[in-house]
Amino acid sequence: MNQYDVSVVRCGDYDDEIVESALRDALDPIRGLDFVQPGMTVGIKVNLVSAMKPESAATVHPAVVCALVRLLRERGAEVVLGDSPGGIYSAPYLKVVYDVCGMRKAESFGARLNNDFSTVEVSFPEAAQAKTFPYTAWLGKVDAIIDLCKLKTHAMMGMTCAVKNFFGSIPGARKPEFHYSYPRAEDFANVLVDLYEYSKPRLCICDAVIGMEGNGPTMGTPREIGYLLASRNGHMLDAVAAELIGLKPQDIPTLRAAAERGLLPDNPKEISIFGDLSKFVISDFKTIPAQQNVFYKVLGGGFFGKIADFFVARVITPFPKLEASACIGCGKCAQICPAKAITMKKGKPQINRSVCIHCFCCQEFCPKGAMRQGRHMGMEILRNWKKQ
Ligand code: SF4
Ligand code: SF4
Repeated sequence: MNQYDVSVVRCGDYDDEIVESALRDALDPIRGLDFVQPGMTVGIKVNLVSAMKPESAATVHPAVVCALVRLLRERGAEVVLGDSPGGIYSAPYLKVVYDVCGMRKAESFGARLNNDFSTVEVSFPEAAQAKTFPYTAWLGKVDAIIDLCKLKTHAMMGMTCAVKNFFGSIPGARKPEFHYSYPRAEDFANVLVDLYEYSKPRLCICDAVIGMEGNGPTMGTPREIGYLLASRNGHMLDAVAAELIGLKPQDIPTLRAAAERGLLPDNPKEISIFGDLSKFVISDFKTIPAQQNVFYKVLGGGFFGKIADFFVARVITPFPKLEASACIGCGKCAQICPAKAITMKKGKPQINRSVCIHCFCCQEFCPKGAMRQGRHMGMEILRNWKKQ
């Protein structure tokens, strides 16, 4: 066993017994629960991105949460689980999230749903970007953290899995300021790596039984993948998860950032995989490209700098695009936009693309999936050509 071990175990559906058996099979070879001592409090950081039903595949399925709770309780641990989705980080909002996402079932196995909504300001001098940040206090009070994530597409980061899950350690209402302060994909990816490294989960588990493809991370299409993944290292788990859905580490900004920081081995072959991944890669998984580098204002002034900025911002970088027929005019996208790039006109959002920072919060939080990722036609042709 080494820190690069990743288990990939077949799990065909969310039947309680099948999930528990698959989870045991995933954890045994990596000795994933060896750290658990009787009486210790384990915090499960579950991906509960929004108040959405389990069948939407936006959040971790309760069957996986409950199986993990049972295994932890068997070892005598106290268990608390929680998350901070976008929105007000408060008891009334999280009550709705817990109810809709099916988390109440975990209480019947002895878990507590986090009800401490306090925030602490923490200092992390080793960080590449986020040297100080607000942090959901409950995660700092447990003896050990388990990262329980979901495998989904993500319009800004390409994919959300183990490392991206820790954006949920930032209180919901404070998240937009991070998007605004770190609009470039590399910088935001380093923030996510900082949050993951600060939280130092002892174990990472990914629910990839049914993941999400297309317009993720909330309004994409549920897609059967059929696996549970586990590792003691989230970067390794993410590298394997990316491969499973047909992506390469260089496609994912958080994996690029981890590699640059020496958190991933130079040679991917050093990652030991328990399970035959090559047989199970889903070649037709509908991915979406991560935000490209936004060089806006980075290439400097001058005529050619401005032309290059314009080209990169308008042609290479994916942008939010409204599907007007699906829009109900609720205005949520305008409220959440950290750059104030959206104004509602005649009941429909209008995006000022010269102000947009390509964070895709509008896409993530649109309740109707009306905000999607758009791409310049030339880039779409190029991408399809590269796939062939
Ligand atoms: S959040 Fe979605 S449905 Fe609501 S106004 Fe914006 S695009 Fe339309
Ligand atoms: S318009 Fe959408 S993608 Fe652009 S800054 Fe606002 S929320 Fe982010």
